[in-house]
Amino acid sequence: MDWLTDDQRALRDMAATFARKELEPIANQIDIDEHTPDELVAKAAELGLYGLYTSQEYGGSGADLVSVCLVSEELAKASPAYAGMLTVQMVLCPKTVEILGTEEQKQRILPKSASGERLLAYSQSEPAGAANIGSHLTKVAPDGNGYRIDGSKLFCTQGTAGTWLVMAKSRDRQGNEGYGCFIVEREDEGFEIAPHENKLGWRGTNTGPISFNNVRLEDDDILGDILTGGFSHRAANQANLLAHVATSIGCAQGLFDKTLDYVQQRRLYGKDMAELQPVGYWLAESHAKIAACRSLLYDTVRQFEAGTVAPEGGNICKAYIGETMFDVCVKLVQMWGGSGIMNSTGVNRYMRDARAKCVAEGASEMHYAIIANQLLHGQPTLVPKTIVKSAT
Ligand SMILES: Cc1cc2nc3c(=O)[nH]c(=O)nc-3n(C[C@H](O)[C@H](O)[C@H](O)COP(=O)(O)OP(=O)(O)OC[C@H]3O[C@@H](n4cnc5c(N)ncnc54)[C@H](O)[C@@H]3O)c2cc1C
Repeated sequence: MDWLTDDQRALRDMAATFARKELEPIANQIDIDEHTPDELVAKAAELGLYGLYTSQEYGGSGADLVSVCLVSEELAKASPAYAGMLTVQMVLCPKTVEILGTEEQKQRILPKSASGERLLAYSQSEPAGAANIGSHLTKVAPDGNGYRIDGSKLFCTQGTAGTWLVMAKSRDRQGNEGYGCFIVEREDEGFEIAPHENKLGWRGTNTGPISFNNVRLEDDDILGDILTGGFSHRAANQANLLAHVATSIGCAQGLFDKTLDYVQQRRLYGKDMAELQPVGYWLAESHAKIAACRSLLYDTVRQFEAGTVAPEGGNICKAYIGETMFDVCVKLVQMWGGSGIMNSTGVNRYMRDARAKCVAEGASEMHYAIIANQLLHGQPTLVPKTIVKSAT
């Protein structure tokens, strides 16, 4: 990575220091307690992490996606769960607002999210399947001089967020139907955030169901076109996928670094453990896979920045790198023997977080389905073309 600029290196080093000093010492406790301390959020805010990818005119630092991925990777070496949650707040949510929002909406939402004062969450998944939006039941319809939203969502991360970006089936005043993106505030009457779920990985991030019972929305709570906002912020989704993939690589690298130390210290049967087969082979294979995946990711990120990325580039990274890094984590955990199975060592959380990463932001198979759609039909999406229905 000798092509990094001085600014990119500086951000990476800042994140590495934060990860080592602030995150690593509490990362295992976050996993055990299923709770991220408020102080950590405050410290991340102080460093400007929430506003890293937000434009400067809206209170962020306007860093490029390479920097965002470097930071995400460093944080994930210590806590893949925390880093995964951060990409949603650092990339997906603010970029969605920047793409779809009016000037008033951007000024209302982004400076507060960049400073960490009011965190954002993104909600799409429903019981009928996260990406199966044609079957989603949450609906926005005209109501008097405004609108109302009714329904429920699943698996929403960042239950402590103040402002929620909610994707939902929509109907405009002319009776046309589509899938929009809506702003719901934590305090809105009829909006309920249920207690978070106990989960395999990404523990410490509050993920759970939310529901809307006749929640009132005004015109300025609609982000973008009411009929298409829910699927017309692809650049935000793609950028977020790449940052998310950076956390998969950081996850495997963090566990690899710990495992290399462990293997070099441990003696078995009177010799260095690293001399046992297949330990040395697995180490070399893991190192090679991480290095290859990192090259693929940053190559894709640079193409994304240059506007030359293939339509399915982010999906390839998400599916291929996510699964490869999980496989790497499984082998690395195995090298720890019983210590890898004990939660107290903080080893197996990497493997669990790596698995969660293969489902969050879309299951690997769904991303392969998108890649197939692009190859076979020239359409890098699962969104049914019929989702927008004219009233006439
Ligand atoms: C830790 C975590 C955090 C999350 N945070 C959020 C959040 O903040 N906001 C939010 O909206 N959602 C969130 N999700 C939900 C996540 O996006 C979905 O779980 C994911 O997209 C899979 O959707 P599903 O659970 O509905 O599985 P389903 O759609 O029911 O899919 C089940 C399985 O079927 C296969 N499959 C699915 N689709 C296809 C396809 N098209 N082609 C081939 N095979 C397929 C896959 O193997 C998949 O695992 C989160 C999930 C996790 C695990």
